[in-house]
Amino acid sequence: MTTIIWFRRDLRLQDQAAVLAAVRRGRPVVPVYILDDDTPRHRRMGGASRWWLHHSLVSLDESLRKLGSRLILRRGPAAQVLGKLARECKASAIHCLRHHEPWWRNAERSLQELLPVGTSLIRHDGLYLLPPGSITTGSGTPFRIYTPFWRAMAKAMPPALPRAAPDHLPAPENWPESENLKDWGLLPHSPDWSTGMANFWTPGEDGAHDRLDEFLHRARGYGDTRNLPAQPGTSFLSPHLHFGEISPAMVWHATMNAGGSVETFLKELVWRDYAANVILQFPDYGSANAREAFDRFPWRDPVERDVNRDLMAWGKGLTGYPIVDAGMRELWATGWMHNRVRMIAASFLVKHLLIDWRVGEQWFWDTLVDADYASNAVNWQWTAGSGVDSNMFVRIMAPLTQSEKFDSADYIRKWVPELAHLSKMHIHDPEEYGMRPAAYPSKIIGHREARERALAAYATIKGAGSIDDEAMARFEAAA
Ligand code: FAD
Repeated sequence: MTTIIWFRRDLRLQDQAAVLAAVRRGRPVVPVYILDDDTPRHRRMGGASRWWLHHSLVSLDESLRKLGSRLILRRGPAAQVLGKLARECKASAIHCLRHHEPWWRNAERSLQELLPVGTSLIRHDGLYLLPPGSITTGSGTPFRIYTPFWRAMAKAMPPALPRAAPDHLPAPENWPESENLKDWGLLPHSPDWSTGMANFWTPGEDGAHDRLDEFLHRARGYGDTRNLPAQPGTSFLSPHLHFGEISPAMVWHATMNAGGSVETFLKELVWRDYAANVILQFPDYGSANAREAFDRFPWRDPVERDVNRDLMAWGKGLTGYPIVDAGMRELWATGWMHNRVRMIAASFLVKHLLIDWRVGEQWFWDTLVDADYASNAVNWQWTAGSGVDSNMFVRIMAPLTQSEKFDSADYIRKWVPELAHLSKMHIHDPEEYGMRPAAYPSKIIGHREARERALAAYATIKGAGSIDDEAMARFEAAA
């Protein structure tokens, strides 16, 4: 009889409840990762995530080998593959961390039905600070808006203290067959676009801890610098948190112990829990508007040539808006983009170009190393105003003002080298000052024209039942 550990977005050994529980049973342990590109409606990982996954799996396998174990790799529909493996290994239990993406919830359900008699699936918490769904309003309903959610979370904190990794994993007498990671083709080739990512990131548990240690020296300054893209003000922990290479509880406690006022950072960390709570309530959040009125919104269709041209200009960082272009090029090069710039770039796609937020969500899904179903969808719907929180319904971010306000000159110089010679005064809007070099494109649409077009489009759904009164009042004031 063996025990299986089913790894998914929880690729670590420290503070990993499934690993600890499996070892405690005292039976031989078989750790497995299954690449599922096959289950219908399972969201296939994007290109940047696949690059990360490859390296993170290498790292996890190395760590397991140091403890006398190894990682078994399989491909296919996860529930079926795991059911088959459980039979092969005569497993009496499968331990895993509970996941909340709709396709993982479905897989967990299917697995319960497929498991041989005598094999149980045991799910543990640990992907979030608190189990999604466990924090509710006074009347027991789930929170929809972030601020009250944060208040309730803050009261329930701190999370449980993190637990150390086991010092040994008992191995089975015979290992089940494993596929070869290289055969999975997770790494890009012809062309290999991953050099910039490899220079910037170290996927894996050790890389996650190094990032955290480095951030702890800067954590006190987070509140002042987190919005300044030219400075290393944020933690850069998002891909490590997404792949579960470090637990959020560990990040919470380490940051608290670093001293100083770290509340602003902890509030951001709680956004991650908030997003998971939203997708638990609305599993289709990545593809369906939370506000039905948006189903009638007059998005421009990227199948049309001029719309597609605009979309490509946005994706390649050639919009003529330096802050947007710097962000999109940072994304292309490193698989990551500063949060403030994500907001500006996303708003630009949705409001300036009137392209459906779902197109942007998909673009980010493919290109971000931290692409996360919950966080990505929640932030895109928030930007569009179509989400549960209608705060951004009417806000049309002015990229040029934002660029100046958040002191982005050096950030633009780094990512848009054609503009590197421009002064702090001219670099945010070179066209306006007649300083645009020939190598840099003219704006694909003027800000005023874009703003008027967006307001007109938003006006077509005003008064629709599912847009709340407060959002409408703000809309009337801005229009
Ligand atoms: P820090 O500022 O150091 O924050 C610490 C951690 O808190 C982050 O690592 C992240 O886990 C969490 N966090 C911070 N802000 C948010 C937020 N707004 N929403 C959810 N979690 C947050 N984040 C993702 O992890 N994956 C995504 O796919 C993703 N897509 C986004 C799409 C858009 C349009 C926008 C505007 C934001 C998106 N974010 C996403 C949120 C945010 O931009 C990143 O989490 C952040 O930039 C990561 O950098 P950091 O680790 O240095 O963050």
